[in-house]
Amino acid sequence: MAGDSIFAAMPFTGVTLDREVTRRRDTGWLAARFRDPSARFVAAGADGVLLDGVSVARLALDPGELPADPILLGLDDGRAVFAVDLDAPGRQRALGEPTPLRDAAALLSVAEAGLAAYAAALLAWHRTHPFCSRCAGPTVIVEAGASRRCPCCGAHHFPRTDPVVIMVVTAPGHVLLGRHARWTHGRYSALAGYVSPGESLEEAVVREVREEAMIEARDPAYFASQPWPFPGSLMVGFHARAEPAPPVPRDGELEDVRWFSVGEVRAALAGRGRLGLPPSIAIARRLIEAAVAVESPAPDA
Ligand SMILES: [Zn+2]
Repeated sequence: MAGDSIFAAMPFTGVTLDREVTRRRDTGWLAARFRDPSARFVAAGADGVLLDGVSVARLALDPGELPADPILLGLDDGRAVFAVDLDAPGRQRALGEPTPLRDAAALLSVAEAGLAAYAAALLAWHRTHPFCSRCAGPTVIVEAGASRRCPCCGAHHFPRTDPVVIMVVTAPGHVLLGRHARWTHGRYSALAGYVSPGESLEEAVVREVREEAMIEARDPAYFASQPWPFPGSLMVGFHARAEPAPPVPRDGELEDVRWFSVGEVRAALAGRGRLGLPPSIAIARRLIEAAVAVESPAPDA
């Protein structure tokens, strides 16, 4: 179970806007907010989000620069905050150079990084869902961007969030970590994988550990979750236990998977040794930190 401090500090959470689930359906109210000079726009695209120093930029747009449809993020102290897609076709003026979300998360406060993630993930979904998955007709934005509707067949489409389980498995004195071939030399992290249809989160944890390491995990315990806007995942973190059998990478996803001693992992967290760990913006690092905080070193370590 996550402590309050872990939850409060998780990057890409902490959006403070009121998302206005009811009033956003009122087209008259929405049009007035959209054209009000006090409206502000958060600009994001596939390459990141526009920043203003150590905050997300809140742009004032001229009437001629407004996006075709309002995508309302919410109200900030009564002032409407909309999203504008930097990659929209026909955008007349370049609004600025975006900062990649991972870099933004390292710079911004938790609430500002949460706003960046919210805008980027919502805009990415709209950008990639212009057509209906049922009848292939063009879809339109409704509910101020909270969903899309297909005028041809009436289907209603909602923004996707794909659940991914991410887990740190421990055995007495040891932590199971894996690495992808594309990562920098020496970098290892928690195992992870998408949840399959007809599967609980706990079942996904056990299956993924079996597929990626041929290790039988048991007792999956929920830790915390994190929106991961690359482009629209929700990382659901677990700890689990296992016997310290030799792991074998099996499904071709991982280049290597192995048990590290608690001592090695603690040294890596302190910046010592050759083992590289995920950055502090990732729930993977929080999972690893929490695992070695409670795991005693092995008697021979
Ligand atoms: Zn349709």
